[in-house]
Amino acid sequence: MNVYLEELIRDKKKETPNGKVADYIPELKNVNADNLGIYISDISGNKFFSGDFDKSFTIQSISKIMTLMLAIMDNGEEYVFSKVGMEPSGDPFNSIKKLETSTMKKPANPLINAGAIVVTSTIKGKNKKEKFQRILNFIRKISEDDTLDINYRVYCSESRTGDRNKSLGYFLKDQGIIEESVSETLDVYFKQCSIEITAKHLATIALFLAKNGKNSKDEQIIDPKTVKIVKTLMYTCGLYDESGEFAVKIGIPSKSGVGGGILCVVPDKMGIGVYGPALNRYGNSLAGISVLKELSNKLNLSVL
Ligand code: GLN
Repeated sequence: MNVYLEELIRDKKKETPNGKVADYIPELKNVNADNLGIYISDISGNKFFSGDFDKSFTIQSISKIMTLMLAIMDNGEEYVFSKVGMEPSGDPFNSIKKLETSTMKKPANPLINAGAIVVTSTIKGKNKKEKFQRILNFIRKISEDDTLDINYRVYCSESRTGDRNKSLGYFLKDQGIIEESVSETLDVYFKQCSIEITAKHLATIALFLAKNGKNSKDEQIIDPKTVKIVKTLMYTCGLYDESGEFAVKIGIPSKSGVGGGILCVVPDKMGIGVYGPALNRYGNSLAGISVLKELSNKLNLSVL
């Protein structure tokens, strides 16, 4: 398997020049655009990896599934989904347009920026520091690495320039969907997006989801029902306006981030983490998707 993965990464690395590293957060452009790596952790304890599986990058939107789990644990499913929908938006991740026009009167789903900012606003804690610490602790727990922390340069870069997210936040506050302080909520959101991880961490978290919320010691960390919600939303909304095509061609519940990561959950079988920072026009890892397409076909991983 490792030999196959070596060949796969070597081959797909050729596609990295077709993508573009995110630069709307200025600090994100300081990476090697041709990085590409994969890590697989399966249910029997096997690990397979190749390429840049050990390189750190920021988690970005992949953090949205962690805050969703925490928000459901904090507030219950009903409250969270009174503030955010469960429908694919068909729009780019940072789109603002449907917030005013949709009859839903709330963000379409928790995995687009507007929905994720709302979800973060519901995380419990006496102040922004405690809220963020709870998110970080949760991600440390499910990635089984207590050393995870944020990349301050990326955090500062986004909090300086994230005007689009700020607009989403203030609009949602105006609509009464966000009830907390917008500036504090955004600060927590920018910090959660700046947590540094590797493809290996993504695979560990993905395996935890593949095992319906059990860690490597088989301890039940979260309720399987919450995991089911998260996996279903990953399948339908995890790659923004590329989610439909990804479901047809790859068929694995997944979540991408503009840092170049993709976390993929093959239920009851394995967790896969991919890293490739050169992105396609949807903001998803271009060569990463190509790797997953090949792998899914070869190992027959599509869930449907
Ligand atoms: N921090 C990024 C943003 O809010 C996350 C977006 C993403 O990964 N798609 O713009």
